Amino acid sequence: MIPGPIEFDNDVLAAMGKQSLSHVSPEFIDIFADSLDMMRKVWMCPNGQPFIIAGTGTLAMDLAGANLVESHDRVLVVSTGYFGERYAQLLDRYDADINVLRSVPGEAVPIELIERELRKEKYKILIFTHVDTSTAVKVKAKALGELGLKYDIITVLDGVCSVAGEEIRQQEWGIDVVLTASQKAIGVPPGLALLVVSERAMGKFMKRKSKVRNYYADWTNWLPIMHAYERRIPSYFGTPAVNLVSALNISLKQILEEGLENRFERHRRTGMAFRAAIKALGMNQIPADECAANTLSAPYYPSGVKASEFLQAVNQAGVTLAGGLLPELKNEYFRIGHMGKINSDEVIVTIKAIETSLKKCNHDFNEGAGTRAAIDILNVNEL
Ligand SMILES: *Cc1c(COP(=O)(O)O)cnc(C)c1O
Repeated sequence: MIPGPIEFDNDVLAAMGKQSLSHVSPEFIDIFADSLDMMRKVWMCPNGQPFIIAGTGTLAMDLAGANLVESHDRVLVVSTGYFGERYAQLLDRYDADINVLRSVPGEAVPIELIERELRKEKYKILIFTHVDTSTAVKVKAKALGELGLKYDIITVLDGVCSVAGEEIRQQEWGIDVVLTASQKAIGVPPGLALLVVSERAMGKFMKRKSKVRNYYADWTNWLPIMHAYERRIPSYFGTPAVNLVSALNISLKQILEEGLENRFERHRRTGMAFRAAIKALGMNQIPADECAANTLSAPYYPSGVKASEFLQAVNQAGVTLAGGLLPELKNEYFRIGHMGKINSDEVIVTIKAIETSLKKCNHDFNEGAGTRAAIDILNVNEL
């Protein structure tokens, strides 16, 4: 129950264990082409250009940076935690003129503040983390997409902790790049950078004045490959991670079988159940209620409960949770990932393990209250 790698489905894992196909075999070409097609559906971006490239989520961030940013382009980064800071550091390599708008930990940057900045200065790109995995804060992606259209700015959504979990309607919301990695809500072992780019952003990319300064990331190299796969023609730039792509194909099928609306709703309900349970156990949480993510939770330890002691106890109870990630609060909170195929039983078992561990750590609380709060919500919404 950590925020990635998540637990994977057996059919997805079985695809990982098969003999690797040739990347130019008709069988694999179909798998790749169908995966690109399914990405457009999962991202809700029928006119977008999908990319599947071997690498991690950070490469997906780098792909958007390397291809859309030229020296001295003005970029506004809205940072709600660790990954917003990473984006600013990454863009510095491309000599962007970067301005970072930061929030207090646990809060989002108010939309009005972002708009005020956009009115003041002409920016080329607006970048934001949909759900920052260090704070469990979710920003209003739809409103930011609208700002991008209003001020004619390219918008980039880091969705590594949200795509296929939180509601995202890329095309309808006018967001230019939505990027993620395989190991989070997409449900495939680590190793794939995945993104869908709008027609508008591809158009801007085509009009670049300078060469892309990162050879591996250059869309000039990858675009013909994506096109070739979709036209079912063999091609080569860098050997695709064939087993991961086969696993992706299975997982995307499962996501579409569940249905995106069902999936958003299931994550919403799971998020609510965890937040209610944490409250019932007398713990505070990093994100404010109005901006709390549904893909992970970030509770503070109750006073007197030590990070190492608690996490060890949870482990002994058979559940793996993650420690804090935000440097300034690292030892004051922990994280529960709840994205992908999480069912009600897993929610309850996790909360029970948390209760058992709090008891071991001598925290005084109403035993069973967390489990009951979660059961209430899971049942009410299931009716
Ligand atoms: C996990 C994560 C990343 C980085 O992904 P890696 O695969 O670890 O490189 C970036 N952004 C967010 C929001 C994440 O949750």
